[in-house]
Amino acid sequence: MQINVATLLQEKVGSKRELAIENELIQLPEFEYSRKISGSVNLLRIKRGILVSAEIDINLELQCARCLNNFESLCTLQFNEEYVPSEPHPITSELTAYDQEDFLIDKYWHLDLSEAIRQYEQTAVPLVPLCKSECVGLDKGINFEAAQLSDDRWAALSVLAKQLEEEESNGIT
Ligand SMILES: [Zn+2]
Repeated sequence: MQINVATLLQEKVGSKRELAIENELIQLPEFEYSRKISGSVNLLRIKRGILVSAEIDINLELQCARCLNNFESLCTLQFNEEYVPSEPHPITSELTAYDQEDFLIDKYWHLDLSEAIRQYEQTAVPLVPLCKSECVGLDKGINFEAAQLSDDRWAALSVLAKQLEEEESNGIT
């Protein structure tokens, strides 16, 4: 998703643009990354280039850590990032110093939010994704303590387990 900032870059520091995004497709083939996004983007002309303030709604495709089912979770990414021109200014020929960490405005004066969105999405993914907070996990839940109390098939198994344990500690095979 590319935003043309050629005119904004020629305006004075403090100039603004506001954009609404609706169901735009962003793609980064090198990461096999493709998402549909909606949200709002504010662009502010700053001395170094353009300051982007974005609020992006994105559907995360996650796998539940308990039941292993795939599920979607809507999440809002909020970020502010500076974008710096990679080419000298068309009028003043001024070129801002930048390094590899900076997001760049390309030689066609396009600013692309895809990579920033991909990076912020990674930080938004929960460490332990759950399809629902009360998800009990695989096959109605595995709760050995409760099962032992309510089901004597488990009792038989735990007797066997105890036997094996004792045999092992006695050195009998
Ligand atoms: Zn689950």
